[in-house]
Amino acid sequence: MPPAVSERPTRITVHLDHLAFNLRSIRAHVGVPVMAIVKANAYGHGLVPVALHLQAQGIEQLGVAFVEEGVALRQAGVTVPVLVLGGIFGRQVAQFIAHDLEITVSSLDKLRQVEAAAQALGRKAVIHLKIDTGMERVGVHSYSARAFIEAAVASRWCVLKGIYSHLACADDPDSPMTMQQLERFLGACAHIERLGAPMPLRHLANSGGVLHFPDTWLDMVRPGILMYGVLPDAASRRTVDVRPAMSLGSQVVYFKVVKAGNPVSYGATWAPERDTRVVTVPIGYGDGYPRALSSRGDVLIRGNRYPIVGRVCMDQFMVDIGQDSVWNEDEVVLIGAQGDHAITAEQLAQLAGMIPYEILVGLNDRIPREYRGGSPS
Ligand SMILES: *Cc1c(COP(=O)(O)O)cnc(C)c1O
Repeated sequence: MPPAVSERPTRITVHLDHLAFNLRSIRAHVGVPVMAIVKANAYGHGLVPVALHLQAQGIEQLGVAFVEEGVALRQAGVTVPVLVLGGIFGRQVAQFIAHDLEITVSSLDKLRQVEAAAQALGRKAVIHLKIDTGMERVGVHSYSARAFIEAAVASRWCVLKGIYSHLACADDPDSPMTMQQLERFLGACAHIERLGAPMPLRHLANSGGVLHFPDTWLDMVRPGILMYGVLPDAASRRTVDVRPAMSLGSQVVYFKVVKAGNPVSYGATWAPERDTRVVTVPIGYGDGYPRALSSRGDVLIRGNRYPIVGRVCMDQFMVDIGQDSVWNEDEVVLIGAQGDHAITAEQLAQLAGMIPYEILVGLNDRIPREYRGGSPS
């Protein structure tokens, strides 16, 4: 029996045709293979349906953060190469190998652990070396990567498929950090050349890199948020034509007149100056709709834009429609277009003091997702 939650009028619609359009746009822009990043439930769009659709579009490679996400992809029938981007624990290596998942090797010690596990299983591990060029997160510093790279090239139980690093400031086209990181990364790759070994896939560019820094595209790019049709930052330039893959909608569940001076919602933070009409929308921070949008966000109903008033509750929030007419069950657009208006994840992030990533990823599984514009499988 389907869960009762699927009856909710509040729903995320994922436009698979937009996802495919964005992939085509990115491909045409960069001219190299794409590793589509589908971590964190495909940025809130649904891990498995998005991955299956991208696979149907001929995606070269997928990237996730954790081994569990990779296993979920394999169990759902995803057969394209999958790289797990996060740091690994030695105890997980057998799981990687059993599910044919590619491993990020981020230190000499982890390389040894992968080799030992692969040898014990009698099956080679496919690895990508992680070089730290400025994030100071996971990876071997580019300035001390030589022994690490030599050991990986010499490894008998590891197949060296890729070498990569991650950009810290590529969302900002004016940051000098990106070219520094590129230089450091290419310096590390030069060790492989000096060894006379075949060059593995070099990949560096996230969405910001794809948008702003052609030199970082190298052998493959790793766009996440851009593939979902959203720009990473307010400073980013729209150099690639993409369309938002997600819309979020609900329905009016209640209507009332609030008298002048009577406050609305928790904390009594907002009250109308004159009698006004207020409708309730059944979505809240318990769904991942940010509470930071209290008295800041707006919604679209009947082609008009109306403000959220008072605090966003766990399961609902209120909207001031002034003297307009709105009926129960009217469609409410929270992300998406209606009439001449549109609300984007970028705008909500700006209003909430968040980044667009948080808006998308925060929308949780209490909201049913429906897929349009193509088959997810
Ligand atoms: C998340 C992630 C990406 C994608 O980042 P976007 O900014 O969403 O494009 C690429 N590479 C790595 C290593 C990541 O962790």
